[in-house]
Amino acid sequence: MDKPSSFKDLNLIPQLEKALTKQGYTTPTPIQAKSIPGLLLGKDMIGIAQTGTGKTAAFVLPILQRMTEKYPRTIRALVLAPTRELAAQIGESFSTYGEFLKFKHTVIFGGVSQGKQVEALSKGVDILVATPGRLLDLMNQKKLTLNDIEFFVLDEADRMLDMGFIHDIKKIILKLPHKRQSLFFSATMSPQVNALAKPLLKDPIHVEVTAQATTVEKIKQCLFFVDQSEKERLLLELLKQKHLISILIFTRTKHRANKVVTFLNRNNIYADAIHGNKSQNARTKAIKDFKTGKIKVLVATDIAARGIDIPDISHVINFELPNEPESYVHRIGRTARAGAEGTAYSFCSAEERSFLNDIERLIKQKIEVMQHKFHSETAKNAVGAAAKPAGRSKKPYSKHFKPKHSFRK
Ligand code: AMP
Repeated sequence: MDKPSSFKDLNLIPQLEKALTKQGYTTPTPIQAKSIPGLLLGKDMIGIAQTGTGKTAAFVLPILQRMTEKYPRTIRALVLAPTRELAAQIGESFSTYGEFLKFKHTVIFGGVSQGKQVEALSKGVDILVATPGRLLDLMNQKKLTLNDIEFFVLDEADRMLDMGFIHDIKKIILKLPHKRQSLFFSATMSPQVNALAKPLLKDPIHVEVTAQATTVEKIKQCLFFVDQSEKERLLLELLKQKHLISILIFTRTKHRANKVVTFLNRNNIYADAIHGNKSQNARTKAIKDFKTGKIKVLVATDIAARGIDIPDISHVINFELPNEPESYVHRIGRTARAGAEGTAYSFCSAEERSFLNDIERLIKQKIEVMQHKFHSETAKNAVGAAAKPAGRSKKPYSKHFKPKHSFRK
């Protein structure tokens, strides 16, 4: 079967079909159509796909279906995810698609006390979704074993590597039974990602979906040249437009994310931030408030936003451009999920000009420049050292000053 155009063609069990119907999903996304048939046969898989392509259902559905062959209560499926938010979302997908099945799952991640997680494990679960650090921690404390794993998923492998989880992952993999079905997902392929995938998979099916280009094409992208000092005023001006309904704003740093939230709240626009310094409860609350429309603006850093599924974002605003051009594609992709259309506004000050050049080179297009009252010719025309953040062109630190953190790259 080449390209099933309906879930009916995929031979899913009635309990899963029912859950899909309840969600209103009738047509598999390309990654689902390409992977589910092979996965139902027990094949290993390597999937090159980013969030927004429907990749979660592509592995959750076949795993649930294959699990129904028996019902012993022991951890049979393990999904590793890089962030707590993504882990939580995968857990939600198991709830959604598994609603009419009897399996129990739990999600474990760091940053919160382990008590409740250990309690959930002790009651017995079939499916475990985890971030690597906390999982290893609990394994070392003998709170769980992976001896009965039949299904193993490594999600967002590239981000796992970026976040330095490689050693944890390798330790976890060593504890898995050899006889298992393994699935490996990554948004990008690099030699490092390949080196991680290769020993893990046996004769895998390869599925690659080119969400990046198609996603970018569907998004209306607008560029605002503006001085750093005028960005807040420009933001306020844009937020006054009525059609901006749910807005995700990106900043490069946690500090800036907090500043933007304070500024907006002071101007009676309800906003909240998600970033690594926020407690898990605060992040969960912010995302919930955003989803329910209690707040209309969510401000996020790249890592925090990674993998979170927030449907119905009308606009992404890059208050600051990312220093890694790939992050631009990830960011704006948040506004055109699963077929929806979206708009991305990007602010570019003089010192971000070189980031803009990198982005336009990556997406192979010039972003449309908007006319507005805060327009800055200085930003537009910046070159050389003026087109980079000040820290980057400075001389190295004097020997009397030791920076606490080194700059990345
Ligand atoms: P993911 O890439 O797994 O994060 O999924 C992105 C979004 O697409 C989620 O909100 C899913 O619920 C949704 N989705 C997944 N599969 C389908 C489908 N076949 N049809 C419509 N939406 C889907």
